[in-house]
Amino acid sequence: MDGILALHEKGPSWGKPKHVGAILASADGVALDHTAARIVGIDPMKVPTIAPAKEREIGENDAGAIEVIGETIEAMRPEDFKLVSNGMMLVMPKPFLDFINHKLLVVRPKWNPDGCKRAGACEKICPVEAITVSPESVAIDFGTCIDCMACVMACPNDGLRVRKGLVAKVLSA
Ligand code: SF4
Repeated sequence: MDGILALHEKGPSWGKPKHVGAILASADGVALDHTAARIVGIDPMKVPTIAPAKEREIGENDAGAIEVIGETIEAMRPEDFKLVSNGMMLVMPKPFLDFINHKLLVVRPKWNPDGCKRAGACEKICPVEAITVSPESVAIDFGTCIDCMACVMACPNDGLRVRKGLVAKVLSA
């Protein structure tokens, strides 16, 4: 992770550059994010990707079990790093945030029955086994899907397309 220059205050869109001077590497992406959060003074369990990783038992979330080699976290911590205000996000009800995320921002694969030849390339390439191809249809388990779009790229027949939520459509127009 390149942490040489970070954005603070109103990052990532309107933030100000702040020199941190950190380069981080780990075979465990969760431990890496956990450490980066602590460097800039964010509670790791408030990072939306780290808490769910703990629930799913992915990666290391225990600060005591993460070995930091090289500079200490305290030595890397930038002075006067102002965190982005996400106060609005914290007071919004989770169902509302889920609605925004799942309906408006989401980018997902969508079965295109007109192009699909049931060849099965999507089922084979899906890294989380979220696709089941049958003679009648292609079923995608969106509870398991990680939106990697490998299935869309693997299909030689236009059998899967990218479906975008409203905001994602506007942003990519
Ligand atoms: S987007 Fe990725 S995870 Fe989701 S069904 Fe396609 S290959 Fe599987």
